[in-house]
Amino acid sequence: MLMIPGPTSVPEEALLTSAKHPIGHRSSEFSEIMMEVTQNLKWLHQTENDVLMVTGSGTAAMEAAMINFLSSGDRILVGCNGKFGNRWAEVGKIFGLNVETITAPWGKPLDTEIFSQKLQADIDRQIQAVIITHNETSTGVINDLGSINYSVKAHGKALIIVDAVTSLGVVNIPVDAWGLDVVVSASQKGYMVPPGLGFVSVSSKAWKAYEIANLPKYYLDLNKYRQFANQNTTPFTPPINLIMALQASLRMMRKEGLSSIFARHQRLMGAIRAGLKALNLTLFAEDKWASPSVTAFAPSAPSKLSVEEIRTLMSGHFNIILAGGQDHLKSQILRIGHLGFICDRDIITCIAALEVVLSELGWDKFSPGDAISNVSTKLKEK
Ligand code: PMP
Repeated sequence: MLMIPGPTSVPEEALLTSAKHPIGHRSSEFSEIMMEVTQNLKWLHQTENDVLMVTGSGTAAMEAAMINFLSSGDRILVGCNGKFGNRWAEVGKIFGLNVETITAPWGKPLDTEIFSQKLQADIDRQIQAVIITHNETSTGVINDLGSINYSVKAHGKALIIVDAVTSLGVVNIPVDAWGLDVVVSASQKGYMVPPGLGFVSVSSKAWKAYEIANLPKYYLDLNKYRQFANQNTTPFTPPINLIMALQASLRMMRKEGLSSIFARHQRLMGAIRAGLKALNLTLFAEDKWASPSVTAFAPSAPSKLSVEEIRTLMSGHFNIILAGGQDHLKSQILRIGHLGFICDRDIITCIAALEVVLSELGWDKFSPGDAISNVSTKLKEK
């Protein structure tokens, strides 16, 4: 049972749809799948923009977002409050961009006011792009994309590039209504599909930037994907069977509906947080900026309880896989993923198993049964 923030579980419909011999990517059969998938991707992104698929993980989509719309030496503002924000800065530096980071401590959200000030101070409009990790998977914090985007729109020139890898299909990201220029995501998260596909939505403003962008690109040249998408195919051999799985998962998502998908993630987040609090564990992110897709926690200090031991027993006894901390948070926190193909039963099972494991490890700072009682109360809330 995967309770990590990606790869996430894949529904049987998607698995079975992809359990077939591959078909040719120049066949009419594939074109029909592409046509449907493209339409449904636009629906999921709430956009009329192009939504392109590249073979690769989320990082490939991140790299594509950078090299297609920017030129060497371009000044960019990158929000860094975790591992994935830092990754954007690293990619930008490697490609010779003039990267200015706006940092916040891990576990805290980006300060929207700093973005506003930097953008307002940019009188001669030198900032070419603002890049934000919407949901910081390494810490379980969701950044205030709406407010930061508001400042970017007031600036007028800069592109807003969004890492929505663990927020697309989880929370509302109305790409057209907000005028988001480039939005990056990946199949193994909210999409409920195995890893291997990256997605990039591209606004007309971003395509204008593409015309003058001078960074070298070949495999990730998005214009190639756009041209082939117009003929319902891809420039290079795609992971056909993953796209079959995606066809099935997008159908499931359409059936559930966007608002129900978002409400389900909010409800499950509330339940898991209530359960962890009842177990007297410390949540790494405050409720105000808690992520609807991943929750990080640790036993409150000065406990000697090892998070790695908790993780080992969760997996050893129950085959429930939790994620550890990353970089300096390694062995400091655990992370529970609750996005994509996830339901009430998964949360109840996970919290109940955690209670058993904690008891076994001698953690006596909770009343037995309280956690499940709190979880079930939260789950009943609509
Ligand atoms: N951004 C975020 C917010 C992520 O959570 C991840 C993956 N955990 C990535 C980027 C990178 O994606 P991938 O591992 O698929 O390359």
